[in-house]
Amino acid sequence: MTTSVPVDDIRSIVGAAARLELRRPGGLRRFARTAIGGNPAGDELVVDDRHPELRTFLVELPDADDLLAAPIAEAITTTIAIRRRFGRAVEALRRISFDVSDPRMVQGHVIGAAQLNLSTIHLIAPYATASGVAEAEARTGRPVLAMSRLVAHELWHLIEIAWEVRDYRATVEFRRDLGRYFGVETIEHAVRGDDEVRARLAAEVSDYATTTSKETTAEMFEQWWNGEQSPAVAHFGATVDRYFPPPPS
Ligand SMILES: [Zn+2]
Repeated sequence: MTTSVPVDDIRSIVGAAARLELRRPGGLRRFARTAIGGNPAGDELVVDDRHPELRTFLVELPDADDLLAAPIAEAITTTIAIRRRFGRAVEALRRISFDVSDPRMVQGHVIGAAQLNLSTIHLIAPYATASGVAEAEARTGRPVLAMSRLVAHELWHLIEIAWEVRDYRATVEFRRDLGRYFGVETIEHAVRGDDEVRARLAAEVSDYATTTSKETTAEMFEQWWNGEQSPAVAHFGATVDRYFPPPPS
């Protein structure tokens, strides 16, 4: 076992926002995580952000000797900020797992996933290591996606899936409100719509946003959370604020 978690560096970036406890999982748990995650499982961080309504959450790290503090800390601070803003709407989250649980993550074709039944978001493990980031950037010729974007995207998937279970009718209304901006009945119709509507969706959000309506909202959330405000994304943000009013500050 070669994991050396740069826990002091992670703590100094996260600062007073949370207390971090380093935990070394036992052999059986490590074995199970390795089997599910597809890569050697390393240590875990229990993150206590003293949230008034939510429990602590776990960050499962890969077993690697070149873990990077910055992306791991950014995943944690982004999660804490989204928990503060969305409270119970994100209570399904228990675990952030840096792994390659989807085989397409090994080649970087998939970089994240959300699983409500496991209360988990999966983040691509190589983005947490110096060698992994260097390899991905050499392969693609561009910087890897920031954790603040990847985490926001995956957490929205979790928020939305849990919301559908809790109050499906509200999510139907929400999708109608989003569709209205594009002049269609519901956002699914923009995704499946004519070339003109899809071209607007691609231009104002992203190409990936045109794949499924789940990706449309996740892409919009990712951009809105990171301060990007195309007209479509600004409309999305205003709609989110109506359905999920910000907590009193
Ligand atoms: Zn997605």
